[in-house]
This record gives sequence, C-alpha cells and structure tokens, in this order.
Amino acid sequence: MLHQVNGQKTDSFSNGSDPLREDLHVFLESEVQLAELDDLTKVNPVTPATVLRCLQERYHGDIFYTNAGCTLVALNPFKPVPYLYCPELMKDYHVAPQLQKLKPHIFTVGEQTYRNVKSLLEPVNQSIIVSGESGAGKTWTSRCLMKFYATVANPSASQESHETVERIEKRVLDSNPVMEAFGNACTLRNSNSSRFGKYIQLQLNRAQQMTGASIQTYLLEKTRVAYQAPLERNFHIFYQIAKGASSRERLEWHLPEGAAFYWLPNSERTLEEDCFEVTRDAMLHLGIDHSMQNNIFKVLAGLLHLGNVHFADSEDESQVCQPQEDAKCCVATAASLLQIPHEELLDTLQVRRISAGKQRQVFRKPCSRAECETRRDCLAKATYGRLFDWLVSVINGSICTEPSSWTNFIGLLDVYGFECFPNNNLEQLCINYANEKLQQHFVAHYLRAQQEEYAAEGLEWSFISYQDNQSCLDLIEGNPVSICSLINEECRLNRLSNSIQLQTRIEKALSSNASLSRNKLSKEPNFIISHYAGPVQYQIEGMVEKNKDPVPPELTQLLQHSQDSLLQKLFPSQEKEQNDPLSQSRAPVITVVSKFKGSLEQLMQVLHSTTPHYIRCIKPNSQGQAKKFQTKEVLSQLEACGIVETVHISAAGFPIRVSFQSFLERYALLRKSCPPQPSPSSRLPSSSPTRKASGQQLTSEEDAMPQSLIRDILLTLPHSVQT
Ligand code: ATP
Ligand code: MG
Repeated sequence: MLHQVNGQKTDSFSNGSDPLREDLHVFLESEVQLAELDDLTKVNPVTPATVLRCLQERYHGDIFYTNAGCTLVALNPFKPVPYLYCPELMKDYHVAPQLQKLKPHIFTVGEQTYRNVKSLLEPVNQSIIVSGESGAGKTWTSRCLMKFYATVANPSASQESHETVERIEKRVLDSNPVMEAFGNACTLRNSNSSRFGKYIQLQLNRAQQMTGASIQTYLLEKTRVAYQAPLERNFHIFYQIAKGASSRERLEWHLPEGAAFYWLPNSERTLEEDCFEVTRDAMLHLGIDHSMQNNIFKVLAGLLHLGNVHFADSEDESQVCQPQEDAKCCVATAASLLQIPHEELLDTLQVRRISAGKQRQVFRKPCSRAECETRRDCLAKATYGRLFDWLVSVINGSICTEPSSWTNFIGLLDVYGFECFPNNNLEQLCINYANEKLQQHFVAHYLRAQQEEYAAEGLEWSFISYQDNQSCLDLIEGNPVSICSLINEECRLNRLSNSIQLQTRIEKALSSNASLSRNKLSKEPNFIISHYAGPVQYQIEGMVEKNKDPVPPELTQLLQHSQDSLLQKLFPSQEKEQNDPLSQSRAPVITVVSKFKGSLEQLMQVLHSTTPHYIRCIKPNSQGQAKKFQTKEVLSQLEACGIVETVHISAAGFPIRVSFQSFLERYALLRKSCPPQPSPSSRLPSSSPTRKASGQQLTSEEDAMPQSLIRDILLTLPHSVQT
C-alpha cells in the first residue's frame, strides 16, 4: 500500500540554483547505500543531485541499469560486459517467478513484455521505446533485446516448427548487420551511428514463438552519400566494398586497391563495422543471392565514381560546364557501372530542361558549375535513398510472415534522440518533432499509469493537470496553421523561397504560441522552438528546398533508361508521366515534412494501441570511455529524455512511497495498541509497494490504522527517510 506526503518538496529542478550542488549534504550520510538503490524513485529526496549521484555510484560499481519508475535508465558501459548479455542470464530472467526481484536490466523489460503478450486473459501488443542521444546505446540495446527474444521466444514445439522458427529468428537477427551496413556511419559522436529511425515489430504466434518480423524505417540521412562532415564518414557499406572486394570484383567494379574517392573520406581508419563478409553472409541468409548482391555493389561503385566527377567553370553562361580533366574517365566509368549512356549522363548533369510558354515548349539551359554538382549529388542521393527503401522491403519480404501466422507483436523503437546543434535545419526539426510526439506519449502514459495506481489504492487524489507539450506540438504540426504547414505551403506554391519572408509569415501567424520566439540578434532568418528538452534555434535558409527534396525529372528519366535490372526496379518506368516536365507543375508536392508527419502519425497510432515500456539510454561521457561519468552531460541527457520530467511528475504528486509492511514495522509503536507482527507468509514482496494493487487483502489490524493517522505520521518524517 502506498502512503505519501504530498508536495513537501517539489520543484527543485527549476529553482534556478545549481542542481549539481544543492542537497548534496542530505545524502552524504547515506551515500554508501546509493549504489544499492535500484530505482531512482527510492532516492530521497529526489533532486537532480541525488539522482545523478545515485547513477554515478552505480556506474562506478559497474551497475549500468537503474529503474526510474516506469522507465529503465541504461548507462552505456563503453566497455565489453559479456556477462550481462549471456544466454544464461537471459534464461534467468525468462524463468524468474518474480521479475521485479531481479536486478534492473533490459531483460526485465524484455521478459515483462513477453509475459504481457502471453497473458491469456488480455494479451496486448507491446512496445519498447528506446531513446537517448547519439552514442548512448539505443541500437546496442535493441540488438540485445532482439537476441533475448530470439533466445526465449522459442518454446519447444514440433521438430519441424522448431526449425522454421530458428530459421526466422536467424533472419530477423541478420537484418541488423544489413540495415547497419547501409544505414549506419561513423560520425563524430558514434563510430556506428544509425542514420535512420527504426521500428521493428517482432511477431509472435499463439505458442509464443517468433514467427517473423517487420521493419519500418524513418528519415534516412541520404545527404551523407554525397556530403560527409569533416572527420565523419559515408555509410559503412561503401568502405566495405572498397576494402573487402575480391580481385575479380575489383576489376568488375573498377575499384583498384587504394583508389581514392571523394565520397570515401577517412577510409584509412579501420572499424569493426567495415567487415564486408558479415554483410554479405547476412544478405545471403535474407535471400539476397550473390548475383543480386553483385548488382547492388556495382551500383554503389558507380556512385563512388560519380562522386569523383567535378566540373570546371564554363566560359560563359551559354556554354555547358565540362568535367575537369581528371574526372572525364570517371563519368564514363560511372555511366558504365550504372548502365546508362555516357553522353546522356553527362548531358543530364550539364543541362537543365525548362518548360515554358503556352505550348509548354521545353528549353535547354546550361547549368552553372555548382548546379552541375548539385545535380550529381541529387542523382546519388535519389539512387541511394531508393536502394535503401528497396532493401528494407526485400528484408521485410524475407522476415515478414502472413498475418494469419502470428497473433501479437512486440515492437522495438530505436529513434534518434533530441538534437540541438550550432546549426539546426529541417532534419533537426523533424527529429525534434518526433521526440516531442514521443514525449507527449510518455507523459500521458506515465501520468495515467501513476494516477491509476493512486485510484487503485483508494487514495484521496485529485487528478493532476500537468504541463504537457501540446503548445509546442501545436506550433510544429497544429491546424490550421503551423510551422510545418507554412513550410509546406512554400513548397506547394513553388515560388522562389525567401527566408526573411518566411520568417515574417511564421511570426505573424504563430506569434500567439508561447513556444515560439526568435533570436533577434542573429543576422540569419531563424525561429526558436521551446522544446520540452530545451530551446532550439532553427535556421530558415535552405529549409524549404530541403523540404521539397527535389529530384529533377530529367535525372529520374535518366535512371529509368538504365539497362541495369536493379536500377529499373528502383526507378520503374510507370513513373514516367509524373516525371514529365510538362506535367510537373500539376503534380501534388509530397514534401519531406508531410511524408515524415504521415509516418509519425502511423507510428503513434501503433504505439497507442500497445502497452509502452521506456528505456532511456544515457551516454556517461562524450569520449566513449569506460568508467568516466560526466555529471553535466548526464544531467542534460536526463532532462532531454524526460527522466527529469518523470521526477517532476513524481515530485508534484506523492514523492515518498512506503510499503505498508515497512511502514507498519517502523511506526506501529505510535499506535495506542501495537498490532501483532505479521507472519512471514503475509509479508509483502519488498519490490511490491502496493497491497491492493497486488490483489492482497488488508488485515483487520492494518485496516484499523486510519489514513489520517498515517498521513499525520508521514508529515512528521524528515525528508531523508529512506523507504
Ligand atoms: P546513434 O543514435 O548514433 O545511432 P546509439 O544510441 O544507437 O547511437 P549505439 O550504436 O547503440 O548508440 O552505441 C554506441 C556504442 O556504445 C556501441 O557501438 C558500443 O561500442 C557501445 N555500447 C553501447 N551499449 C553498450 C553496452 N550495453 N555494452 C557495451 N558497449 C555498449
Ligand atoms: Mg543507433
């Protein structure tokens, strides 16, 4: 049974004092025990300093998982800890009669979802939302959970079905190296950074076996194909083919050992992820045979050669720009690998076609050097983007089974965390928009869950109206007007976009929204959104163009003319009509934002239909070193992934939770007549604070202690009481 003191100490997160210093004195005396607190809600008092100190103590004691109410905080060990993920431990969690008695772990979450799905009374689909900043361990966690399910979701059945299940599980696990080879890259923050969001549904049949899976991806960062920030790299797959091709393949793909490519920076660095064999084997298991693989890698080699095509300035505007001397052969090589006519490739990069006049006559306009190179990049981005989507559909075809063969699913969401860089543009807007949606989902779910518990306890409780992030979401996506709608409108009107005018339009239409502001000192057009995780300043310049993500129709047509069977699949000729410059102006514009919004809405619908579980991954330091815990960095992540928000909610509600048993043992003497000591069999499990919620009846003695007395006693307790 829960008894709490309401709101004695609440908003210590936002009182303006240094959160890392305050309240330190309170827990110094009990510091020794901090590492033993496996739930942050047991830290008393709950302040940023105490929460941080608890996590720090645990981290230094090699304890990487801590519960935070309904969420699990996962600190990245940044060192191998194989004992934490071994099959034996998976089985321990799987067979544990009382999961909550085991140490916090991602397997607790994994097993809980598995049991929930199994529930005969009311099996409900489950979702695990794994969040955190780049390098925090989201993908690692998702991978471990997939291995966990592959190990436990395989109950004995007939030999035949057992083998089928094992085959499916292998394929589901094999989707990871393939997706990571094509969708991950080495960045400044993580040498294996996922450059896309992913939601994978693991499908289970009535016998609790994993019969298949399906993958949905979000917003691949395809610009990386043609542009890599200093010290960063392209997608892993390019390095894999450049380093791992056989001599025969090197000849066929025109990749001599040590050849230099502009789009392969920092290739001297060898990463674990550079292993071509792993990707190839996994592709094979997924049904992508050698010949198809060869086709894919040949196209990728073609893109690498395309990246070496640089243009020289033309003498005047009426002349086309020619490739630089040393790049001429690269055009020919790229064209032969992509199986498109050499002259046609060059002409499409050099010349723009414009339709004008009443008869919509088509004119040819030579492109400037910069335009030629933009078209080259665009060709590569469009090809890679479609290749990635096609690959996901092939993987889905290989791992996804018919709806009749599964009854429930467990979904794993591994999405990019909240981002705030010196320069933020459309990509960050989309990513932070997704995080706002997930935060709203989290707050709604958490508050609901907590308040339902109060109701079950029969506590006097008036529903807390809490500060949610609705106004921020209204600003980004609301109706009838929002930042997204205004950016989309610019694309729809297809006018030359002017950033200052767009800034004015945004301010005029949305000035009443408190989440919007602007940096008036900045010379660049901008807007600031006050996200739940902090304010982010977005640059307007380039946003509309990025939102259009335009692929000139000539480029699409060029690829449609390819003799290569893979490119023919990626660019089917049925699209011809839409790509005709004459019909372009009438075609509806599907912008990046509207596509993203659509897929986000679908995702939210799925999440709403499931029971959610949250794992918040935290990066203890930005250098990726073991045993290093940087408090400021951790605190800002706790804030950004909503842990601080969770604690806020707890603080606004009932911060002290005492199990009825320990309360009774400690304070029964204060009653006029002391109740008898309960027999061991009637003891509540220590991890189960609630009596009614766990379905146990109160004894008449316990019932005899009125709530008012309990409240009076609790109000006299010092804050440092440990429960
Ligand atoms: P991004 O958003 O950039 O994709 P991420 O949150 O997915 O980042 P991961 O790639 O999962 O981050 O983790 C980064 C690195 O941290 C891993 O490559 C691995 O070296 C290390 N790591 C993460 N979790 C663990 C763990 N539980 N045990 C050991 N090492 C880990
Ligand atoms: Mg990742």
